[in-house]
Amino acid sequence: MHLKTLTVRGFKSFASATTFEFEPGVTAVVGPNGSGKSNVVDALAWVMGEQGAKSLRGGTMEDVIFAGTTDRQPLGRASVSLTIDNSDGALPIEYSEVTISRTMFRAGGSDYTINGAKCRLLDIQELLSDSGLGREMHVIVGQGQLDQILQATPEQRRGFIEEAAGVLKHRRRRERSVRK
Ligand code: ATP
Ligand code: MG
Repeated sequence: MHLKTLTVRGFKSFASATTFEFEPGVTAVVGPNGSGKSNVVDALAWVMGEQGAKSLRGGTMEDVIFAGTTDRQPLGRASVSLTIDNSDGALPIEYSEVTISRTMFRAGGSDYTINGAKCRLLDIQELLSDSGLGREMHVIVGQGQLDQILQATPEQRRGFIEEAAGVLKHRRRRERSVRK
């Protein structure tokens, strides 16, 4: 499994549609300060289901939508799609290529799709959670996060391990059904 392409449109500093292509192996993103390198990582986290504004370095979730510049109007929606090569079947879905996408509207509401079919955020989170690409961010290690892991409580550390082992999904399901 590897990431193939990431397309961002109206997401943070990327007003126009922009596509990044990834080859298997290591990809480095380079550029001057403020040019949008971290925004690319934020787009990856967001399309994979991140729900915390703070993890996306914003104040509110709406802050991911292009806010305008001196010569460009703010946009009404942000959308990101990520295509993953699944020829090794790491994702539990019968496609050798999987595209997940997320759109958020400034007026309210969001859309999620898997290979073009509308789905729930939960479906995307569950699709990814067994593959090691979960939203709990042990895959995207941000600045300061190593410290967090080193200083985690035993419960928090168990959470990291449970997600890596693919059992967190089942615990969440159980918690949801107990709550109902
Ligand atoms: P550094 O090297 O300092 O880490 P970087 O390349 O990681 O920089 P980013 O943090 O990705 O830079 O990008 C910051 C830029 O993104 C800022 O110019 C900020 O104004 C812009 N930006 C963030 N959110 C939005 C938004 N919603 N609309 C428009 N621009 C945005
Ligand atoms: Mg940065």
